[in-house]
Amino acid sequence: MPATISNTHAALVDWLFLDLNSYFASVEQQLRPELRGKPVAVVPVDTDATCAIAASQEAKKFGIKTGTNIGDARRACPELITVMASHDVYVEFHHRIITEVERHFPVHVICSIDEMACKLDAPRRRLNVAVDLAHRIKRGLRERVGECITCSVGLAPNRFLAKVASDMQKPDGLVTLLAEELPGKLLELKLRDLCGIGRRMEPRLHACGIRTLAELWAAERETLHRAWGGVCGDRFWHALHGGASEDDLPAQHRTLGHSHVLAPELRTPPQAGIVARRLLLKAASRLRRMEYRATHLHLSVRTEDGPRCEAQAKFEPVCDSIVLARCLAELWQRVMQQARWQRVKKVSVTLMGLEAEARPQQLELFPASGETAPREQREHLSRVLDKINQKHGRDSVVIGFTPDTVRTFSGTKIAFTRIPDREEFQE
Ligand SMILES: [Mg+2]
Repeated sequence: MPATISNTHAALVDWLFLDLNSYFASVEQQLRPELRGKPVAVVPVDTDATCAIAASQEAKKFGIKTGTNIGDARRACPELITVMASHDVYVEFHHRIITEVERHFPVHVICSIDEMACKLDAPRRRLNVAVDLAHRIKRGLRERVGECITCSVGLAPNRFLAKVASDMQKPDGLVTLLAEELPGKLLELKLRDLCGIGRRMEPRLHACGIRTLAELWAAERETLHRAWGGVCGDRFWHALHGGASEDDLPAQHRTLGHSHVLAPELRTPPQAGIVARRLLLKAASRLRRMEYRATHLHLSVRTEDGPRCEAQAKFEPVCDSIVLARCLAELWQRVMQQARWQRVKKVSVTLMGLEAEARPQQLELFPASGETAPREQREHLSRVLDKINQKHGRDSVVIGFTPDTVRTFSGTKIAFTRIPDREEFQE
């Protein structure tokens, strides 16, 4: 269409979102040529009772995907090859991929081990330049990281829509959503295709009379506010409609926490208390990186032979480690009194009531006195600590004393249910 061609030069996009295709399975196929072109499922343990944590393109044709039970997968595809996950290798490839992408353009945010987003600068916002950038990144990954490493790229006016676009064509996709053409291709999607609309959100939208993308698109902002039960709905509405200032994804996490079963030598109450604080600081660091604040802190402790003891505190939205650590210390006293100061087997720390920050804060290192609220100073200090730890390694700087014995336990593992962000390896 001539109209599209003449538009191309004027059309602008702000974000490039890159999603690697069948990431773990592709890395395995890259390293082991005998797996290429074959249905492969990556598994955490070697049993048919487990689930796939990744499936190759070939396996996906049989309906096998992340979460598919391996017994079911074998029935659907008897020639399926299962491969034990090698998370260290996936992390190593992750770094090689980032390095390659950054040969072309800086990565603004790493969203997960196989997803990243670039916020385009003025020259690259022009659609034809952005499309060229996407092709150069794709070619670079194939030529310098590995021929099996393919990705789907989305180009759009904000990060949310760029991610949605990256999901629309797999493998090796490149989809553009232009602000002036919205809703356009979005209308081909189902509600659940959108990041931020999950199993629990969908029925709430149905209850508001929204069953299709067209209905979602037509919905008033107030309706989405009601459906989400808060500002997340407004943010979603804004992002969906291509809001230019919105550079975050709609909230997916309502809670954020860590738990740990203690090694016998860490089960005395003082040692366990240190572990609890370490878990909290890790969660707080993630909270800040996601640009959220929390309004509740929950502490749960299971003693070696007693029941579970727990306590919760509520406060104004915070994300700084100092306030949270102080709050945890009070909860710890309460919980351990309930537990009669017995030996502790398991500790869980959860931040709840997560809210997106109104605006990511960029504060001066030495703000003019009197202009900055104490809360902002504390949050700023926490962020400075995060940066030092990211740069120089986990625990370069911690709040309070962290003995060597408990230092290593919070090392990030790649959990089955959640792929850690790269930064977490330093948290
Ligand atoms: Mg992916």
